[in-house]
Amino acid sequence: MPNRIQKRSESDPQFQWNPRDLAESDGAWQKDFEAILDQISSFGKHRESLTQSAAALLACLSDRNQLNRVAVRLYVYANMKLHEDSAEAAYQAMADKAENMVTRLSSALSFIEPSLLTLNGETLTRFQEEEPGLRLYAHYFEDLLRQKDHVLSPEMEKLLADAGEISSAADNIFSMLNNADMKFGAVQNERGEEMEVTHGRYTALMESYDRSVRQKTFETYYAAYEKLKNTLAATYSASVKKDAFFSRARKYGSSLEAALSGGHIPSEVYTNLIEAVHEALPSFHRYVHLRKKALDLPELHMYDIYTPIVPHVNTECPYEKAQETVLAALAPMGREYVDTVKSAFQNGWIDVYENEGKRSGAYSWGAYGCHPFVLLNYDNKIDDMFTLAHEMGHSMHSHYTWASQPYIYGDYTIFLAEVASTVNEALLMDHMRKTVTDKAMRAYLVNYFLEQFRGTVFRQTMFAEFEMITHQMAESGQPLTVESLSRLYRELNDKYYGPDMTADSQIDLEWSRIPHFYNAFYVFQYATGFSAAIAFSRRILAGGAEGEKAVEAYINFLKSGSSDYSIAILRKAGVDMSNPAPVREALRLFSELLGEMETLIG
Ligand SMILES: [Zn+2]
Repeated sequence: MPNRIQKRSESDPQFQWNPRDLAESDGAWQKDFEAILDQISSFGKHRESLTQSAAALLACLSDRNQLNRVAVRLYVYANMKLHEDSAEAAYQAMADKAENMVTRLSSALSFIEPSLLTLNGETLTRFQEEEPGLRLYAHYFEDLLRQKDHVLSPEMEKLLADAGEISSAADNIFSMLNNADMKFGAVQNERGEEMEVTHGRYTALMESYDRSVRQKTFETYYAAYEKLKNTLAATYSASVKKDAFFSRARKYGSSLEAALSGGHIPSEVYTNLIEAVHEALPSFHRYVHLRKKALDLPELHMYDIYTPIVPHVNTECPYEKAQETVLAALAPMGREYVDTVKSAFQNGWIDVYENEGKRSGAYSWGAYGCHPFVLLNYDNKIDDMFTLAHEMGHSMHSHYTWASQPYIYGDYTIFLAEVASTVNEALLMDHMRKTVTDKAMRAYLVNYFLEQFRGTVFRQTMFAEFEMITHQMAESGQPLTVESLSRLYRELNDKYYGPDMTADSQIDLEWSRIPHFYNAFYVFQYATGFSAAIAFSRRILAGGAEGEKAVEAYINFLKSGSSDYSIAILRKAGVDMSNPAPVREALRLFSELLGEMETLIG
């Protein structure tokens, strides 16, 4: 019988985080909150002066940093308290106030960048010569000014801003259909109980050991999309055309170029990923073949992709054991890294166990000037230990960045965000593979890793390729219809899964149900981030002098924050994503793991 979930007040403080490191008390929070509201109201004083002199510009930017720093700290505190127990009315109110304050702040600061864009490079260089305090902003200014070619006249900018709301229509319509209006009907689960199919239950049902449950779920789910397919094609087409319109209006060469320009990522990073993954498709086909063999099926269907192919194993892993194992696994990172993680375990960074009203899932979060925090819902399973390693990777990235960078560069981009978390997971996986001897457990672990490759590298790259082609189609005037989208999706699906997959016709419509497609050219970063992390971990694990150099380069990466463009930061640490080599390096590990799996369960 499952234990009753504890109330927050009953749970052991030893396993709770300590938000007092952010704000001494609720009363202190309130005082800071009132002070910041005053400062926000008076920030307008910089509006006229900021472009007039170096000193005025520095004063404005310093004030902005100060405001942002405090605002984030207050915001994080209020929300962390709310996440401890969402039923606490006092913290609901506090989080509301924080939300409101952040909106007011961003509106108060919104004049800064348009004003800076009225200056030219020479003026900004002269300002930096006159005022040494501005030199630290060199990269910030450069990043801002390179967008100048894509800023239009004030009237045109106004027109584009006014079109902003209409431009999110496709996404909104899709969300409404997908989350509110669509109903999927019910299937019988393995115990014969009727279950309503929902987005939330889809994955669990597709993981069922009972094949008829998977098949029924798959058919039921896709039948709902089939009924709306013309509407869904029109909606997706509108979204792609919106991207093409804005990229043309802002004078970019393509929608892809426009989307990547924000992070200053060359298009080759995107196309190299696709190229390197194509080269590795024979290994992926081997994986599909192995899956078919392991499940002992005459035909492998798309609904057989998520069910486990390894026997049940005991995956119990108490928190103390997880801490010990994670510390041992991180040893290749060196003493300082391990000691910091150890002290994080002991000093209130982590909120470990579930309690009534606690936010679900896991995250790493925090505010510059304090240590990071980790929320877990630790359930004593091996997967939870991997989550601990993952979130500690994010936290260590923040820790090193905050200790090394000024506030302005104290964050990191989405492109880099999953590198540090994945490196930690890869080190943990390596440690487990070296120490676990039980064959079934080894199979479980290798399978866990293979599944990450499947979901993060192969699947996301297939999505990335689909998006690239649909945008090219729209840009060259080809219509995006149910037929053309489904034909394209079918071709890609056949190409990626290979000859051992019997793809049912339903899968042709998978494009119609992916919410990320309404945020184009985003998902490739899952694949590039994962690949960069695996490349790092391979070098770190090489050991010897090479390994030591790799650790040093990697720690420098963790310290870099957003002080340079993402690609440059990675390149300095030895991982050049403008070249297919790191993705190839990562995919070699996939092939190795696959070989091991073939021996273990073949
Ligand atoms: Zn993460």
